[in-house]
Amino acid sequence: MTKETRSFQTEVKQILDLMVHSLYSNREIFLRELISNSSDALDKLRFEELSHPEWDSTQPHVEKHIRLISNREARTLTIVDNGIGMTYDEVIANIGTIARSGTKEFLKHTKEIKDRPELIGQFGVGFYATFMVADKVTVLTQKAGTSEGTFWESTGDGSFVIDRQTRNEGVGTTITLHLKEFAGDDSVEDFTDEYVLRRIVKKYSDFIAWPIRMMTSREEPEVDADGKEVEGKTRTVEDDDTLNSQKAIWLRSPSEVTDEEYEEFYRHVGHDWNKPFDRIHYRAEGSQEFTALMFIPPAVPQDYYYRDTKWGLSLYVNRVFIMDNAEELIPTYLRFLRGVIDSSDLSLNVSREILQKDRQVQAIKKAVTAKVLKHLETLLKTDREKYQTFWKNFGATIKEGMANDFSNKDKIEHLALFQSSHSDTLTTLAEYAERMKKDQKEIYYITGDSLDQLKASPYIEKVKQKGFEILYCTDPVDEWVMQSINKFDDKMLRSIAKEGLDLDSEEEKAEQEKEIKDKEIEFKDLIATIQGAVSEKVKEVKISKRLVDSPVVLVSGAYDSSARLERMMESMGQAMPKAKRILEINPKHAVFTRMKELSADRQKEWAEILYNQALLAEGSPLDDPMRFSQQIAKLMTDHI
Ligand code: ADP
Repeated sequence: MTKETRSFQTEVKQILDLMVHSLYSNREIFLRELISNSSDALDKLRFEELSHPEWDSTQPHVEKHIRLISNREARTLTIVDNGIGMTYDEVIANIGTIARSGTKEFLKHTKEIKDRPELIGQFGVGFYATFMVADKVTVLTQKAGTSEGTFWESTGDGSFVIDRQTRNEGVGTTITLHLKEFAGDDSVEDFTDEYVLRRIVKKYSDFIAWPIRMMTSREEPEVDADGKEVEGKTRTVEDDDTLNSQKAIWLRSPSEVTDEEYEEFYRHVGHDWNKPFDRIHYRAEGSQEFTALMFIPPAVPQDYYYRDTKWGLSLYVNRVFIMDNAEELIPTYLRFLRGVIDSSDLSLNVSREILQKDRQVQAIKKAVTAKVLKHLETLLKTDREKYQTFWKNFGATIKEGMANDFSNKDKIEHLALFQSSHSDTLTTLAEYAERMKKDQKEIYYITGDSLDQLKASPYIEKVKQKGFEILYCTDPVDEWVMQSINKFDDKMLRSIAKEGLDLDSEEEKAEQEKEIKDKEIEFKDLIATIQGAVSEKVKEVKISKRLVDSPVVLVSGAYDSSARLERMMESMGQAMPKAKRILEINPKHAVFTRMKELSADRQKEWAEILYNQALLAEGSPLDDPMRFSQQIAKLMTDHI
């Protein structure tokens, strides 16, 4: 078995098709993608070598580097690295199928991208970008620790050729682009031109830690044996030039790094083509010495909510790359951060397993967390508008910290923004507390799927009537988070959809007590009938103190889970025991006066309808929608 022609996965074909016909003007990014891949491959090899001392002996000791070779006549550009390389199977898996979620996301947007090619860069399609500039691409690669090479070739149509082949240079990867015809117009540059390549490398890849070399030639005056120039004669001198400064950007002083350099670096570590939203760059001294350069992305990444999306920072030890996606360096609720931690204290041999338990790592995580929270606090105080943009993107993530990180709960509570009945602008808890009325005892909130639903919900009627502010919590995490806040500044947080809502003053209560007693007597039989009709669904039917306009509402026990939480858990495949709730009725509503006059059978029917209405009002699905619909139809015809 050797040479084989295989078909690309359908999805890859779609991407390639887009690349081949791309009108994207910024095609030079293909080089950034290839250099970035080579740099990763070199990082990986250096790391793997730590645990494979035998590899060094199989390969003559060559300095790790990336090399560009251009050939103007043949119109080829070759990128060579002596990194980790790929096996035969890896080549098929990595550059024949769609493995990454980022690329999958790309596919969802192909139509959009066709119309707006400038979007291509945002998705970072990596290797496939080469087909924007080349009509044939070949790869020759050999994986570290193996002795056989793999050859791959494609013209970007539906298939690729794969074969086993010796790579004379040994371990590493060579990618050769057979460049498309150079029309010489302004829109496409000549990617065999030394100066063009120099400019692109400087622009996108200057910080790459490995040398990016290029063989260049220049004419010099010929000299004779005495070192004197021979008039009219020149000779060609070849130089192996390093094109990038290789400065690890995070180790430089922030005042010396330009915004553009930060932006390029963010694109490399963040796999995001947009400019970062914000950055945190500092050196920690003291018990733990490390440098951190972290970025907040400008928008929620495409694959952010996928379950298997990797996150975490890149870990370096004294400039040596150790691993990507080190989740141990930041808490999950800061998982939107992209960037690098470079520690002076950790051992080079640190593995993922060690990271999880390492006390130094925990100390770094603690320090980084404090720094980030402090940074956000300052942003909130100094630039509210910018902070709000951040919060809209990642607020739901940060909030998890209130439930998960007890030591920082207090700080995060001060960072949280909420929608509220006070105005359309988001509010902090502190601002809410300041606005609280004298007779307001607690901070009120309600959770639900949408702002509109909450604003119209029966739960808020009385609270609004009292003039108390309500926090509208529409993020799914709020179901967990709000419960865990419990108190802010000595003020209890209270869900207005739960039992125990205590809005009234002592006098009002005394007055109400009497009224309720009267109503309980007046509606005693009706309540008993309703209770009988819905006894399997609710644990109690009682006169409501919270309703103003709506006839009924379902209320959860103070310590029970909400209906929404139950639904969410269920949709995640984690059924939880359903807590029975209380059906509160509004005796002032005309429906009950009429109901009293009905026969017991009709009353039971109405009770069922009312219960279903309460479900609808809170956004819950009905147990039997068909039956409900028939009952309503009957009700309507009964009264014609
Ligand atoms: P990405 O780099 O974003 O994962 P690419 O399409 O650019 O996506 O590359 C896919 C994979 O192919 C890489 O993740 C890597 O595993 C492998 N790869 C690409 N280039 C190289 C290289 N020069 N050396 C080793 N592996 C490589």
